Amino acid sequence: MKAPRFAYARPASIAEALALLQKHGDDARVLAGGQSLVPMMNFRVAAPKVLVDINRIGSLTGIKVTKSFVRIGALVRHVELERSADVAKHLPLVAAAMPHVAHPAIRNRGTFGGSCALGDPAAELPACTLALGATFVVAGKKGERRIAAQDFFKGLYATALKPGELLVAAEFPLPKPGYASAFGELARRHGDYAMVGVAAHGLRKVGKFSDMRVAFFGVGDRPQRASGFERALEGQPAVDGALAKLDADLEPRADLHASAAMKLHLAKVLADRVLGGLAA
Ligand SMILES: Cc1cc2nc3c(=O)[nH]c(=O)nc-3n(C[C@H](O)[C@H](O)[C@H](O)COP(=O)(O)OP(=O)(O)OC[C@H]3O[C@@H](n4cnc5c(N)ncnc54)[C@H](O)[C@@H]3O)c2cc1C
Repeated sequence: MKAPRFAYARPASIAEALALLQKHGDDARVLAGGQSLVPMMNFRVAAPKVLVDINRIGSLTGIKVTKSFVRIGALVRHVELERSADVAKHLPLVAAAMPHVAHPAIRNRGTFGGSCALGDPAAELPACTLALGATFVVAGKKGERRIAAQDFFKGLYATALKPGELLVAAEFPLPKPGYASAFGELARRHGDYAMVGVAAHGLRKVGKFSDMRVAFFGVGDRPQRASGFERALEGQPAVDGALAKLDADLEPRADLHASAAMKLHLAKVLADRVLGGLAA
């Protein structure tokens, strides 16, 4: 099937993009890598009347390292994250996640901002933003605002972005000394969306877990931290004693791949495996 007819605009600045989004309201959609939006239009799940193509906006690109954070522009392609020496050095969790995001052809076009703005509950990058305590930078008609990743993902394909707003970037705090990350997912085939995934970050000190942030994806209607599990890990040398806390932390949803009970089981298996392999 082909997409319904639509108008196309290619603004050169954030201000121009915001003006177009404001002018066309609900009729407009932002086009980034198009790897999710265009298939949705072809399947007629989405039918925007105006596409606002942000690919020419230079201020949405680039990975920058400052004294306190790594800033990833919304238009940074998945492949850039995968190959970035700065990401490998400062955000090894993101580097570990990237090979699991779709396939090379999709990673060549798909963007960091598109993945986070879409809010797919089985996507890898949103879970990484939660585990690493990132902050999203959002532009709207009243200027910029910042939203903690914890408050950004609101439900199934729902985020804190308001109509007419543009996701500009995310800022990831530089990891403190001694902190380490671990990532893992279970998918039927490599590159498929995860049936269950885990992104973890924290301190492994003298063989014990401390200050852990553990985000699950592919389990509920959004990526989510497992707070009871995180608390139970504090000061523990091993994972197994804390796994039972996931019964209360997670509310798995059955999908085409697995029942809710199977997802919970897989989440525990994966958490044990991923955190067990976490090395400082
Ligand atoms: C076969 C296939 C397999 C895939 N597998 C995976 C996978 O395993 N894991 C995974 O995470 N993803 C997967 N994807 C999705 C892929 O990662 C997409 O690139 C991503 O979800 C969307 O990024 P995009 O840049 O293509 O966004 P687009 O498709 O252009 O946009 C997606 C949505 O976000 C909005 N949007 C985009 N950018 C912004 C912005 N800056 N501000 C506000 N709104 C914005 C758009 O309006 C649209 O609603 C897969 C896609 C395909 C086709």
